[in-house]
Amino acid sequence: MRYEDAAEHRTSIAGWVCKKCERYYGDNEHAARYCCCESRPCTTEGCENRRQKSWISCASCRHKHLVARFEALESKPYDGSPVVEYNGDRFMWDEDELYEYLDEDYGDLMLVFAEGRQPTWDCLGEYLSDDLPEDGLDTSEIDEQISQWLKENAPKMYWPSKVRVDLSKVEEVRNRQFGGEVQT
Ligand SMILES: [Zn+2]
Ligand SMILES: [Zn+2]
Repeated sequence: MRYEDAAEHRTSIAGWVCKKCERYYGDNEHAARYCCCESRPCTTEGCENRRQKSWISCASCRHKHLVARFEALESKPYDGSPVVEYNGDRFMWDEDELYEYLDEDYGDLMLVFAEGRQPTWDCLGEYLSDDLPEDGLDTSEIDEQISQWLKENAPKMYWPSKVRVDLSKVEEVRNRQFGGEVQT
């Protein structure tokens, strides 16, 4: 098309426009509404709350889902090993730290066991593959040595596991110890 024929002046345009920034979206009603909005209705059936525009559900529904996911996890009684908040990043490395935590206003008491992992080494040949010929280089001997070295020297990094901490025994003991004080 020639430049001279490529446009025409229109005075009335039908379609969807964002009311705030006035961007035109044609037939795309959703995009126009989404553009500058801040909240949308929660998608949970029966919930009347608003959700932030990019979230699927409102804060209260998200919290309910979180609690449900936590409760569905396999659980084991607390055994003194490191534990971590399910919905946070605070670690309690031993029993004293756990007690300290329980004395604070922790909000939701949802803890999972922390799992220690060391870095592992796979294959030097793989690592250098871009700089090696097709048939590669046998690195199994050094790979073995690196793996062994890591096992002996690398610190363990702790991550949340998928096992929740059953605190009922801990609470029982504490209630017995501090029974007089905590009774309401
Ligand atoms: Zn807009
Ligand atoms: Zn909701």
